[in-house]
Amino acid sequence: MRRPEPLEIFQPASIREASAIVKEKGPGGRFLAGGTDLVIAMKEKGLSPKYVVDLKRVPNLSGICEEADGSLTIGALTTMREVETSPAVCKRFPFLAQSAAEVGSIQIRNRATIGGNMANATPSADVAPALLALEAGVKIAGAAGERTLNLGEFFRGPGQTAMLPEEILTAIVIPAAHPNLVGEYIKFSPREMMDLAYVGVAVALVLDGKKRCDAARIALGAVSPTPMRAPKAEAVIEKQILTEELAQRAGDEAARECKPISDVRSSAEYRRAMVGAMTKRALLNAAERPGPVAWTERRERRY
Ligand SMILES: Cc1cc2nc3c(=O)[nH]c(=O)nc-3n(C[C@H](O)[C@H](O)[C@H](O)COP(=O)(O)OP(=O)(O)OC[C@H]3O[C@@H](n4cnc5c(N)ncnc54)[C@H](O)[C@@H]3O)c2cc1C
Repeated sequence: MRRPEPLEIFQPASIREASAIVKEKGPGGRFLAGGTDLVIAMKEKGLSPKYVVDLKRVPNLSGICEEADGSLTIGALTTMREVETSPAVCKRFPFLAQSAAEVGSIQIRNRATIGGNMANATPSADVAPALLALEAGVKIAGAAGERTLNLGEFFRGPGQTAMLPEEILTAIVIPAAHPNLVGEYIKFSPREMMDLAYVGVAVALVLDGKKRCDAARIALGAVSPTPMRAPKAEAVIEKQILTEELAQRAGDEAARECKPISDVRSSAEYRRAMVGAMTKRALLNAAERPGPVAWTERRERRY
């Protein structure tokens, strides 16, 4: 482990100030939230930022708020542990809480933020598939004001987002959901804990009492340069009764439309096969037993 070089650290008290520092100091700086990606990159991967802008003193960047229109706003600096344990998230989107619970260890989740997970833009980011399946948007702010993007437009490639260097991710907004929405997130990592996803699959379905699927969203992690939706797989089940055979066909379609690579964790072929199996499993789990799932049970019902 390399000892990082001494560097300049700023602790602005507003978004405007944070953004102005980056404008003034120029390229080569980094924002800091929980530091669980940034500090590791500096200590172990040779990243040497020219300066760091710590966002933790900027007010109103964390917390979870149920809005009057039914949407849910999650501040960018909200920790994974807060997402995992939030009564509002657990009640309305238990699979999102579950995806936050999959991140690292409890020590990591007490520091890691949901905004850092998105801004770091790793294809395997655990919370991204659930947020994509919920059609979440992101709020981005800088000296010039605020703008909102769909999460799908936000990711541009591994480690790349649509943010300008001086822009800050301020919040994630989940639109009001249908009362019959159910979902599931499944992470495949053989080590079970403290490992990145080899494959992640999130599904969000609107099902009626006869398991007719009025709306279907399927999102995949770690199998393309960015977390992705699988629209052809979604089309297989939309407006259909969800059966095991249909879930299998949707899984096959998702396996065809993902774009995995081979790396130290897994071959592309294996990832593709896992997408098929996990998409089928996630669809059936969501339809059968929606709701928060304990660790032990979660392991059992994955495959
Ligand atoms: C041991 C260990 C295990 C891990 N396990 C997992 C895992 O299982 N699953 C998983 O998905 N991740 C995992 N991670 C990665 C990491 O914990 C998450 O990606 C985390 O959510 C990053 O958030 P952070 O607040 O720590 O980000 P930071 O490290 O502070 O920042 C990450 C990047 O995003 C930028 N950034 C942060 N916040 C903002 C913002 N609001 N606006 C603009 N830019 C911003 C920073 O400049 C930096 O480039 C693990 C990390 C460690 C060290």
